Amino acid sequence: MIEENKSLAERGDRVLPPAANRATKIGVMKAYGSTIEDESGKKYLDFASGVGVNNVGHCHPEVIEAVKQQLDTMIHVGHNVAYYPSYIQLAEELNELTGTQKMVYFSNSGAEANEGAIKLAKKATKRPAILSFKRGFHGRTLAATSITFSSSAYRQDYEGLLPSVYACEYPYPFRTGLSYEEETKRCIQSINEVFQYQVAPSQVAAIILEPVQGEGGYIVPPKEFLKQIREICDQHGILLIFDEVQTGFGRTGKMFAYEHFGVEPDILTLGKGIASGFPLSAIIAKKEIMEKWEPGTHGGTYGGNPVSCAAALASIEILKREGIDNAQTLGGYLKQQLFDLQSEFAGIGDVRGLGLMIGIEFTDEKGSPDASTVNWLKNFALEHGVILLTCGTEKNVLRFIPPATVLKEELDQAVSVLKEGLQQLAKKESGHAIY
Ligand code: PMP
Repeated sequence: MIEENKSLAERGDRVLPPAANRATKIGVMKAYGSTIEDESGKKYLDFASGVGVNNVGHCHPEVIEAVKQQLDTMIHVGHNVAYYPSYIQLAEELNELTGTQKMVYFSNSGAEANEGAIKLAKKATKRPAILSFKRGFHGRTLAATSITFSSSAYRQDYEGLLPSVYACEYPYPFRTGLSYEEETKRCIQSINEVFQYQVAPSQVAAIILEPVQGEGGYIVPPKEFLKQIREICDQHGILLIFDEVQTGFGRTGKMFAYEHFGVEPDILTLGKGIASGFPLSAIIAKKEIMEKWEPGTHGGTYGGNPVSCAAALASIEILKREGIDNAQTLGGYLKQQLFDLQSEFAGIGDVRGLGLMIGIEFTDEKGSPDASTVNWLKNFALEHGVILLTCGTEKNVLRFIPPATVLKEELDQAVSVLKEGLQQLAKKESGHAIY
């Protein structure tokens, strides 16, 4: 029975609840720019952006126009069957953006791209093992789960995950208290120890990592760490896979996050922001690697759907024209505002990130992760019209992921809500348990 007199949230018991806002569910009726509206007409600033999907904002008119034009000509053909314009054009565009001599394989989700990247690395090297990193997140399908270590909840009760996966240390200077140099050394050492005690480098197909960890806590590693990983890969014939599903498409103030580090991967996986909400993901690999996939060896029904590709082409245009610059400039501005809050309020241990991928890590008086404050602030923000997400293995990082096209006034509004929340918390004497 359809119960239309009830709210969407009240009718939500037939679906899994949204992971992000389990306690305070909202039903969204409309979305535009950085704003979404709920069933009562209340407006929220959407600083979750579908976890980094709506990088050009919701329902950008140019994306809508491109999609409408595509719908008038073709909805589905199947890349297993034939070529079609938006698919080829997008592959050409991505080649341009990543330095040509590449080939692209399109799929539907970030997890699916990572699954494919692992298969491709195994196929190309004829080796079994994969190295990934603690706190890394790569998706929820089985192989993606196998290389994901950002929460035990993602792995528990899924016995029978992919074998030959080894989790290494990823830099976390704020948590370890070590210098960038020492932290790099510690983490590279963990890779060498895997080689020494667990699997010979000659058996390793790929090292996969996020150039900035997303779900793991918005952690930016030292440049030197990525450079040394590149060297290890070159030395042992191991393929380097960067998972830029969350960091890609302007999120960090560059088209791709790896541009900040001057280190290039052999295989790049992309998703989320690529098509502003239409299902699409991509694997971009050096030509000689991708060619190891004989036609028919890997494929899928919907990957590279014409409508998604048209949305992607329009989204990339907008990012190139204004989004990336905006993410860089306003990302710096937002970070400064958050640094100001850090100097005013106790509990903000660290403010970090690149572009508009910014995390604020909260710690208690002893310096331990403080998830309850973060949860309180997230709920306070939601009540006051700002949607924020948390991240980090201890859920003590509040993350800002507004669209790359966000306005300065919208950032100011969100920061002032956060400040009000922090002021209220500061006034309270006994904990934060009002939610
Ligand atoms: N990789 C990274 C870095 C991600 O952040 C995510 C999603 N949070 C994924 C992969 C999985 O993407 P999807 O949910 O589209 O499968």
